[in-house]
Order: sequence, then C-alpha cells, then structure tokens
Amino acid sequence: APNLFSYRPRDPLEVLATVFGHSAFRGQQEEVVRHVVAGGDAVVLFPTGAGKSVTYQVPAICRPGVAIVVSPLIALMRDQVEALRQAGVAAAALNSSLAPDEAREVRRALMAGELDLLYVAPERLTTQGFAEMLRGVDIALFAIDEAHCVSQWGHDFRPEYRDLARITELFPGVPRMALTATADPATRDDIIERLQLGEARVFATSFDRPNISYAIVERDNARKQLLSFLSRHKGNSGIVYCLSRAKVEDIANWLNREGIRALPYHAGMPAAERGANQDAFLKEEGLCLVATVAFGMGIDKPDVRYVAHLDLPSSIEAYYQETGRAGRDGLPAEAWMSYGMADVVQRRRMIEEGNAPDEVKRVELGKLNALLGLCETAECRRRAILSHFGEQHAGNCGNCDTCLSPVDTWDGTDAAVKALAAVYRTGQRFGAGHVIDVLMGKETEKVTRFGHGKLQVFGVGKDIDSKTWSSVVRQLTAAGYIVVDHANHGALTLSEAARPVFKGEKKVTLRRDRPKKAADVRRSLA
Ligand code: ADP
Ligand code: ZN
Repeated sequence: APNLFSYRPRDPLEVLATVFGHSAFRGQQEEVVRHVVAGGDAVVLFPTGAGKSVTYQVPAICRPGVAIVVSPLIALMRDQVEALRQAGVAAAALNSSLAPDEAREVRRALMAGELDLLYVAPERLTTQGFAEMLRGVDIALFAIDEAHCVSQWGHDFRPEYRDLARITELFPGVPRMALTATADPATRDDIIERLQLGEARVFATSFDRPNISYAIVERDNARKQLLSFLSRHKGNSGIVYCLSRAKVEDIANWLNREGIRALPYHAGMPAAERGANQDAFLKEEGLCLVATVAFGMGIDKPDVRYVAHLDLPSSIEAYYQETGRAGRDGLPAEAWMSYGMADVVQRRRMIEEGNAPDEVKRVELGKLNALLGLCETAECRRRAILSHFGEQHAGNCGNCDTCLSPVDTWDGTDAAVKALAAVYRTGQRFGAGHVIDVLMGKETEKVTRFGHGKLQVFGVGKDIDSKTWSSVVRQLTAAGYIVVDHANHGALTLSEAARPVFKGEKKVTLRRDRPKKAADVRRSLA
C-alpha cells in the first residue's frame, strides 16, 4: 500500500516525530541521517540499543526512491517490516519464507515505485535477476545491517556478505550504509575494505554502557553461584545463557524447582513453544529466560535487568553483544558470568582438532584467548572491554567486580617487561607460543631457525611456569599493551601503551593465575 500519510514529511526531524514518535535524535543519529540524506556513504558503529535502525529508516523516507536494506535474519526482517507498516511506512521484505504470490506482489510494488523500504537477504541482492530488476527502480540508498558478517574477524562471518561489494559497481552513485554493533579495529577495517567504503564517513559512538555492571567469576559451584547472583534480582526480568540445548532445559527446570520462574529457549524446541516463551518473556515481568545464543538478535526489551552466562561465549564481541541486551532503558543492570578453566581447555581442543583451515583456527584461538584475558584481568573490566574495541577508558569505573572488590594480585611489572621485551626482540612477528618458549629458554626448532637462542631475553623467564606466562601474555593483551595482529598469523605486537612500562613509569598489576578453590585450600592446609 502507498504511504498512509497523504501529507508526506520530508524533513528528518519531522519524519522522526511523525513516523517513529521520537521527539529528538539521539547521539549521532542526526549527523548520520543528514549525511546520508545529502547523498553520502556512511559506516555506522553504534553499540546495541543506540538506535541504528532510525539512521537508515529516516533517510529511506526522506530520499526519493526505495531503500534496500540487507539483513541476515528472516525473523529480524519480519519484525522490522511489521513495525514500519504499523507506523504507516510502505515496507516489505523479499525472502525465501514468502509464498510465490506474496513475492510477486512485493516485486510489483517495488517496480511500481510504491515502496519506501525493501528488506532482502544478502544472497538475493547480488543475484542476476534481482540486480536486473533493481536497474529499473529508483533507489534511495543501500543499508547493510549487521555489516560485521562480512568479516572473518567478526563473530558471525557469512560468506554471502562478501558479494555485497558489487553494489558499488552495479549501482554507482547510490548512497551506501554499513551498520554494526561490532567494532573492534580489525573488524572495522575489514568492513570498510571488503565493502569498498574507503570514502565513507565513519560514525562511531562510545561503546561504553555505563549502566551495566560487569562481574566474571571462576566457577566453583555454578548453580550455587547463579542462585546467589539471582537472589539480587527477585522480580526482575533477565536472561541466562547456556551453551547447549540440554543444559538450557536442565537449568530452566532446576530454577523453577528453586522457586524462580524460568522458561527455556533454544532452536531445538517446537517453534510454537519457543515463540510462546519468547512472547512471555517480552510481555511479562520477572521472568528468567534460559536460552542458547539462538535467542536475542533483534529482541528489543528495554527492561532486561541482568544477563548471566553459565558458559563462555565465543568471543569478547559475542559477550558484549549478549550482555548488551541488558539495561537498554538506561537503568542499572548486571552482566554476570561464571567460567571454568576446564571448559577453556575443552574449547581449545575442539578448535584445534576441528576441520577448519589453519587460518580460521588461529582466529578462533585468538578470540578465545582474548576472552580469557578479560576473565583473568585484574584491571577494570570496562577498561579491558573497551580497549578491545579500540576505545580508551581511564579505568576505575566503579561499576565492575574488579573495581568494587580488588582481586588477589601480584606485581607483574618485571614479568611484563620481560614479556614485552621478548615480543619486541623477536621482531613482533610471532605468536604467544614462540614468545613464551623464548622466555623460558626452550631450544625449539623455531628458536634455532631464527637464532633466538642468542637473544638477551632468551631464558630470562625460567622462574615462571609456562601456564603462568600464558596468563601474563593474555592479561597484557587484555590490558592493551600487546595487540594481536590477526592479519599476520596472530603475531603479538606492541602498542604505544607498552612504552611507559619499558621506561619504568608504569607498574603492571596482574591477577593470580587462578583463585584457589576452597577444596584446594583445605587440602593444602591438611
Ligand atoms: P540498534 O539497532 O542500534 O540496536 P534500535 O534501532 O533497535 O537499536 O533502537 C533501540 C531502541 O531505541 C528502540 O526501541 C528505538 O525505538 C529506540 N530509539 C531509537 N532512536 C531513538 C530516539 N531518537 N529517541 C528515542 N528512542 C529511540
Ligand atoms: Zn571497572
């Protein structure tokens, strides 16, 4: 149907108010909108909940022609289209879930110039037939949502996204936008390069979510720890993430027995039941949704008060996206995670023994190590997270567990200088394994081949075991002294932040490798 407004607003603010019901733009939304309305390309890096949709939906309405929005998930498209239609916008989606006559009607409306927005899956956009059809249509802009899917460094690589670069050749002059909530520097550079957005203006807002507090505990008794965490959230809505479907069912049943209203959600459930549980979570108050990561993308529930992880996510990016579902209303919310070293070892083995190409394995292992570095850090968690996304934060946020209750630490300055020196002296070309071999004075084949046995730093770290060195390197990485170069086989490189450590101007405090469990303490006392 044509736009319900017979009077058609053209000014961005007017569109925002009349169509979306928002009285003002937030943050950098307006700058993005005005830039795109004027015909510019944009890369939009806003954290989850910041309001990325408005930045392409408003220009879509203001500019003549139809906006083509690339989106990876059919369910997401459906929600967006539904919301837009209710707001009186002529929006539609073309995807494999449509019946042939529905698809025909969408194509007719598209050709007739009746649509403001059309959502499509990435693989469709670059097919011959569809591209041909678009040639006859007036296009307002292309918006590529969840643009990190184009990057292997992102946490959700989708090969179909690779072809999207062709849009530039097929439709020169049409503004293009790439939007994502994932923006560590490697992913960001990759998006810009792969989608040929070198000329685009980059809009990035701080990724900090100051109202979310962060806590990460080493697993001791996972259920007891979770219960004690949940006791702070009586009557609140929240999400508990587990890795497997079986565990989701298990934990949900057990929580109910413990008197906490919980519902399961995972991809293996009958669709109707899954949908009903999601609806209940969205509509009711004080419900705990126990879910696999299948739950969450595109969910907009503002008053989620906590997100708990009972298993490690796949990366810091995934962790941040999942915890970011808490506290969208800006009120205090908690992100809590328990992790076990045994899981880490198992995860590492799964990656190493998997069938993926070596390069992918290296990336996966790098992500796991970065996440472990975050778990182990003795520094402000917020600082460590933001540093991972290339953002400076002074630390001491006062709203994370390490800030609120300082952890058992040791003066790691000497160890840090040795590790950083080993990275430097070996030419910033090697991964953690080799650097640690050098520190420990191991005569490996690689050491011989590169003559590293002659280095001053060779063997200076014999007083520390290799497990502790791994933790030191991870913590130095989490703290931003070391930067992993994914484009160069995961080589460790030094950042500017390493300089004051070398100069003796900065002390480095490290967390003890792992807190002793009560049982170990008792045994050592016996
Ligand atoms: P993102 O895609 O960045 O995660 P959304 O586009 O889903 O975020 O927006 C998150 C929430 O913020 C939505 O509920 C949306 O209605 C709301 N929102 C977006 N822009 C504004 C604004 N200018 N004023 C008020 N609310 C807004
Ligand atoms: Zn902090």
